[in-house]
Amino acid sequence: MNFRIGNGYDVHALAPGLPMWLGGVSIPSETGFVAHSDGDVAIHALCDAMLGALALGDIGHLFPDSDPAFKGIDSKILLSKVNALVREKGYAVGNADITIALQRPKLAPYIQAMRETLAGVLGVDAGRISVKATTTEKLGFVGRGEGCEVWATVLLECGEK
Ligand code: MG
Repeated sequence: MNFRIGNGYDVHALAPGLPMWLGGVSIPSETGFVAHSDGDVAIHALCDAMLGALALGDIGHLFPDSDPAFKGIDSKILLSKVNALVREKGYAVGNADITIALQRPKLAPYIQAMRETLAGVLGVDAGRISVKATTTEKLGFVGRGEGCEVWATVLLECGEK
């Protein structure tokens, strides 16, 4: 079997009164992400990992924030486009592991919904999608509540899934 591996990283700043979307799920929060899209930093990192695995560039290149077509766009649409591109190349997500660093709110109640939502968009079993969350113990920009940082690792498998 032919495998490809990729990693993705993204950061978005937090500001009061904005919506917070993470892993395709709406999270009740006093702050949300400053972004051209809906700011779903977890999906952006996942997209970059998938694109990176096939050396296809990154989402900033594919969906430039200078393009008004992507203003406020649901990042699940971006993920679905990236997934289509990956499948066009003959690959599918074997598994993905996503780590979200956010000081607040606590994400534990939303992890399962994120896994199921992402798996649904990718057309794979939720058992293949891992989402983990951590605070940074109040250290750094994440700890001060200024932003959110996400890392994603993806294994792509060649062939139908
Ligand atoms: Mg982003």
